[in-house]
Amino acid sequence: MTTVFKFGGASIKDADAIRNLTPLIEAHADRPLVVVVSAMGKTTNALEALLAAARDEGRGDDYRKRLDALGSSHQAIADALLGDEAQALKERIGNLVEALDDQHRRHRQGPFSRHYDQTVCYGELLSTTIVAEWLNRADVATDWLDARELVITDDHHQDANVDWKATSDAIRSQAGGSRNVLLTQGFIGGTAEGVSTTLGREGSDFSAAIFAHCLDAGEVVIWKDVTGLFNADPRRFGNAVQLKRLSYAETIELAWHGAKVIHPKTLGPLKQKEIPLTVRSFETPDAPPSTITSDTRFDTDLPSCILRDDQVLLEVKPKDFSFMDEPRQHDILGRLVEAGMHANLIDGGAMQLTLCLDNMAERLEPLMESLDADYTLQRQEGLTLLTVRHPSGSILERLSEGRDVLVERRNATTAQRLFRTVECPETWYIPD
Ligand code: ADP
Ligand code: ASP
Ligand code: MG
Repeated sequence: MTTVFKFGGASIKDADAIRNLTPLIEAHADRPLVVVVSAMGKTTNALEALLAAARDEGRGDDYRKRLDALGSSHQAIADALLGDEAQALKERIGNLVEALDDQHRRHRQGPFSRHYDQTVCYGELLSTTIVAEWLNRADVATDWLDARELVITDDHHQDANVDWKATSDAIRSQAGGSRNVLLTQGFIGGTAEGVSTTLGREGSDFSAAIFAHCLDAGEVVIWKDVTGLFNADPRRFGNAVQLKRLSYAETIELAWHGAKVIHPKTLGPLKQKEIPLTVRSFETPDAPPSTITSDTRFDTDLPSCILRDDQVLLEVKPKDFSFMDEPRQHDILGRLVEAGMHANLIDGGAMQLTLCLDNMAERLEPLMESLDADYTLQRQEGLTLLTVRHPSGSILERLSEGRDVLVERRNATTAQRLFRTVECPETWYIPD
């Protein structure tokens, strides 16, 4: 049975990190193994900045500088890995950067999302080119596969929808049967016509699940810079505890509410085929991991806390003092979908709908403009949304004590408060 590994940006951020993952792959290389890799370090952020410069007529120099920096940072990693033997790989890196520039020229006048996908996909193309070359030099026989020919999607750029039948056919015909390690890109796909697409930021976890689903894999292992899934972000909460066993359903809830460790779309394709997901540390691979299956027995053992920063509260009221009835809600939520936005919390009253949204200016402004014609809008920024799953006692109240709470929402399993972001203590603690 195939195993699917996924390595994110932190696990391949530099030459040492790439060297460190070799033994992890080597240990599995005698069995069918697909390795899904995302872009190095913060490359996708760098590509987004490059694209912003590229779209701005006046910032041609900035674009060129950023493009050169992208090429030289990847070439420096090739040098650090291969020394005197890096020349051929450096040429391939140079060719990829040229191809990126070419794609930019072709798409710069067109729609932003399409331009984004044709250029930002190069982060993963660059990283996998380097990692595949390194593994082969390290005697781990590896085939490089282009995920744009395997993960077949529609042309909903930046958030493309997978065509499962076409994807399954492509993956089974190209990725079945090889004795080598198969290395491919996370996050990216392509349409049936060969146009590049992306699956949404942080989408490499989802890519691993797509490959696993299509190959009826026995297991997916996502290698992270944490030992597993915790009941709060261990970088923000001093007393976060690792959740060793969790169900797909509970993990979807945590991810959906903003636990950034796993992309929420990852769980569905795995649940459908009962493929276990293991989250482990690439830094301490022997540490006990978190395992996610259908078993729900441990889901409610501990409360989990999730913070979402940089939230906007939007209060939408009909201009004519009429009810916020279903047709109006339908209209407003339809415009939200059109703007490509997701509400992290929805609340309502007789004459208003309250939405809590991520502060993404490029999507929020067009949404505000569209709503402004028919509704009275009130907007507040600088907010934090706290979600507690399985809250016990007064945990929500204690965590938000002394804060200016604007909205609260509760049901049997989840409690949320939206409050004004204050100078947060460096470290949060989950109360007993
Ligand atoms: P990747 O390298 O795969 O992109 P990410 O950076 O997206 O990895 O995810 C790992 C990070 O997720 C950790 O460094 C951690 O700070 C953060 N994180 C947020 N919430 C949680 C949680 N509940 N459990 C574990 N890690 C979490
Ligand atoms: N490289 C992409 C991103 O940074 C996808 C991923 O890392 O999962 O969003
Ligand atoms: Mg990530």
